[in-house]
Amino acid sequence: MRRSRAFIPTTKEVPSDATLPSHQFLVRGGFINQQGAGLYNFMPLGKIVLEKIRKIVKEELDKAGCNEVQLSFVTPISLWDKSGRSDTMGKEMLRIQDRHQNDFVLSPTNEEAMVELVKNRVTSYKDLPVNLYQINTKFRDEARPRYGILRGREFLMKDGYSFHSSKEDMIREFNLMQETYKKIFTRLGLDFRVVDADSGAIGGTGSKEIHVLANSGEDTIVVCDTCDYGANIETIFEDEAQVDAYNEKSYEELTKLELEQKCSCGSSLSFKKGIEVGHIFQLGTTYTSALEANFSDENGKPKPFEMGTYGIGVSRLVASVIEQNHDENGCIWTKETAPYTVNIMVSNIKDEAQVTLGEELYLKLLGENVEVMFDDRKERFGFKMKDAELIGFPYTVIIGKELANGLVQIYDRKTTEKTSVKTGDVFSTIMELI
Ligand code: ATP
Ligand code: MG
Repeated sequence: MRRSRAFIPTTKEVPSDATLPSHQFLVRGGFINQQGAGLYNFMPLGKIVLEKIRKIVKEELDKAGCNEVQLSFVTPISLWDKSGRSDTMGKEMLRIQDRHQNDFVLSPTNEEAMVELVKNRVTSYKDLPVNLYQINTKFRDEARPRYGILRGREFLMKDGYSFHSSKEDMIREFNLMQETYKKIFTRLGLDFRVVDADSGAIGGTGSKEIHVLANSGEDTIVVCDTCDYGANIETIFEDEAQVDAYNEKSYEELTKLELEQKCSCGSSLSFKKGIEVGHIFQLGTTYTSALEANFSDENGKPKPFEMGTYGIGVSRLVASVIEQNHDENGCIWTKETAPYTVNIMVSNIKDEAQVTLGEELYLKLLGENVEVMFDDRKERFGFKMKDAELIGFPYTVIIGKELANGLVQIYDRKTTEKTSVKTGDVFSTIMELI
């Protein structure tokens, strides 16, 4: 992409409600913009990152034998009446009416709709297990939408649902999903923890959350200093007020607290702050019994499906990457999430030799399918450099005055180091770095 053609409206202005770095930098870097309370548009850069994350999620789920579907975002209220959630989910569900006064709900999650989809289509134990998922818009009328796309009202979620003939098989799938989620978050380059969780309003028994570790996280988790044990403090304290009191403490305050409890492995435990990016549940037969979704077992007897459900906050992940990876100047994208890997910056656009080299390198990298931006704007070097730092391209090739001595510089966004390279070596050096 040529920067002169790109729609990347970067700005110095910080939205007044943006308290977190991810919110500030994503807005300032021209990734997202606010449309209304808890409603965000994804501009070109934001859309690229979102699609990259979506692709990784899809690849790993497909490898694990999951089937992608796409359900209608608008759902008839009757679906929610049958499960009883039209009452229990309360005000989080946004209801709308059509011209005939029929009531509908904008999907906050899709257990009911998925059960209805499978019901009468999967009829025998021989057709099981089956795991269906979608990556689709959700709407929750959150009491406090905040932190930009970390807690929006409209957001992109991957929601998956599996159906089984026995509890053992459902648990096997739950474990497979846990491993698959670990692969996804590892590929995204995130520092994360799988923790024991509370099952909350969705119901069911076994439940785990995946948290991206970040000092600004809304949740407080306890993790072992040696083994991989971790738990959301919601599972440790009975009392909600106690949980809230911990969640309100800053990371610095938490680190000062002594945890007397030890891990079952004998090691000490520490408090951490986390952003919940995934949640997996062993649901059992709660929904399938209520919606009378049965299959016939080996003896021809009807039984409700055993069910599991698995979510990932895809749009929340975009902000989580930045919450974990940034400095005072802007975003630092991980390898798999960067909107462009390389940025070529011509320092003086009036210098013909600089432009020619930039153009050559740009075309050569494009030829190798490298995701490359060519900053060909007639702007000052300092301005373009600040912009590159804010957006967070992993590598910027600076073609400037040193070209007279046959040198260009490669700026590494993560280390902020600049290395001089001979013009003849710049292509191979970049190819090695990425
Ligand atoms: P939270 O505790 O953060 O409110 P939840 O428990 O309500 O989340 P789930 O129902 O488990 O969320 O949804 C699956 C995933 O969707 C969550 O793990 C989270 O990553 C994401 N998610 C939930 N609510 C929002 C939101 N308002 N904005 C963005 N992502 C969200
Ligand atoms: Mg949850």
